[in-house]
Amino acid sequence: MSAVKDVIAKVKQRDPNEPEFHQAVEEVMESLEPTEAKHPEFVKAKIYDRIVEPDRTIIFRVPWVDDRGEVQVNRGFRVQFNNAIGPYKGGIRFHPSVNLSILKFLGFEQIFKNSLTTLPMGGAKGGSDFDPKGKSDDEVMRFCHAFTRELFRHIGPETDVPAGDIGVGGREIGYMFGYYKKIMNEHTGVLTGKGLEYGGSLIRPEATGYGAVYFAAEMLATRGLDFNGKVVAISGSGNVAQYAVEKVNQLGGKVITLCDSNATIVDEEGICGEKCDFVKELKNVRRGRIKEYADRFGTVCYLGNNVWDVIREQGLKVDIAIPCATQNEIDGKNAEALVKNGCICVAEGANMPSTPEAVKVFQSNNVLFGPGKAANAGGVSVSGLEMSQNSLKLSWSREEVDKMLLNIMKNIHKACLDASEAYGKKGDYVVGANIAGFLKVAKAMLAYGIV
Ligand code: NDP
Repeated sequence: MSAVKDVIAKVKQRDPNEPEFHQAVEEVMESLEPTEAKHPEFVKAKIYDRIVEPDRTIIFRVPWVDDRGEVQVNRGFRVQFNNAIGPYKGGIRFHPSVNLSILKFLGFEQIFKNSLTTLPMGGAKGGSDFDPKGKSDDEVMRFCHAFTRELFRHIGPETDVPAGDIGVGGREIGYMFGYYKKIMNEHTGVLTGKGLEYGGSLIRPEATGYGAVYFAAEMLATRGLDFNGKVVAISGSGNVAQYAVEKVNQLGGKVITLCDSNATIVDEEGICGEKCDFVKELKNVRRGRIKEYADRFGTVCYLGNNVWDVIREQGLKVDIAIPCATQNEIDGKNAEALVKNGCICVAEGANMPSTPEAVKVFQSNNVLFGPGKAANAGGVSVSGLEMSQNSLKLSWSREEVDKMLLNIMKNIHKACLDASEAYGKKGDYVVGANIAGFLKVAKAMLAYGIV
């Protein structure tokens, strides 16, 4: 059995209750198989075995008091997966579905994504099963403070620098940073996604969505195509989705869908202008439901269905898909419908939004498919730039950061293509992203000896 097959089997046997982690390991390891022959030294040093085991996994109790004075107890996590090429770096997710399997999958993916950016960042992920929906600002603040009361001892600007993810945006980062600053008595770049007034970077909120669209534009360009006049389906309506919509509009495309966990809206006129402002205000300020968009603009709304079900059921024509909600949102059946309805390009704004079956459908139908670890790496890239600005005690302009983001996304795209070609799978961005991300980390691990 090859080393990578052996590792996949061992992971499944050792952690049988972690399906999302198995899925991520399988996807990465299978595409690393060709590296075994070129790098027998990796096999000998058991790099493949070592890279699937986190450096450490921290699980902790988070007790806090709600507005009624009742004590609530949530579970907090930080999976510090690999710091071979830099301090741990990866988001914090607050969502009721959060568990160890999901955070291990996200932390594992983050190793390769961060390596692809070319910035010195290791891989980590954290979060809690806390649900910010329906909570008051005060409750969110008390929870964030309670979460940081334990997390603070495991992070630091040279150790581990968390950022946002689902359920964690500027408000939550502000509360966590404020608490860290208070108890450590230091103002350092320990978190990214901070407000501009206290060390944040311009373009950080926009970075993941903009980056995913830049990546899609690079893929399209390989076939002499661009966004102009294209119909685009986007899922989610949070941070990544909002700025993906903005960038698609800037590049001349038309976005026709958005969703949240309750409903999908379809607006065939295009989601642009004041409609985008409405979504931002609805989701970031009022924290309402996407259904209100349909009420406000008189468009169609499908309760309980995700974007990809709606596209399949309604037979909507779509040229480009940018899933920006959550993992495993596009299954094989919906991928087939997308292909049938004319989709030529998929760029994953979310992490692992396509199931393995969906990825197979896209790739076997010659759809340009950009996996999350490449396509959504813009967010962590600008987080890396935020860390640099904090260390240098400087802040760069909007234009400077956007230009750096665009360059990084172009370089990631090229690195994926080059690696896919070097390993005999030209144009396969999954193989390219995994191999290009892996090689740098593996070589660093090898240099350290057995640690
Ligand atoms: P947000 O919390 O800002 O937004 C998430 C959006 O997805 C919300 O609209 C949410 O709906 C919706 N959603 C969540 N779960 C489901 C579901 N099961 N079905 C339908 N809709 C759902 O998160 P982000 O935009 O930050 O993150 C979205 C994705 O992008 C995640 O996969 C994340 O890991 C990934 N990502 C984020 C980065 C970042 O910089 N923020 C960086 C790289 C990747 P509701 O409003 O109902 O909760």
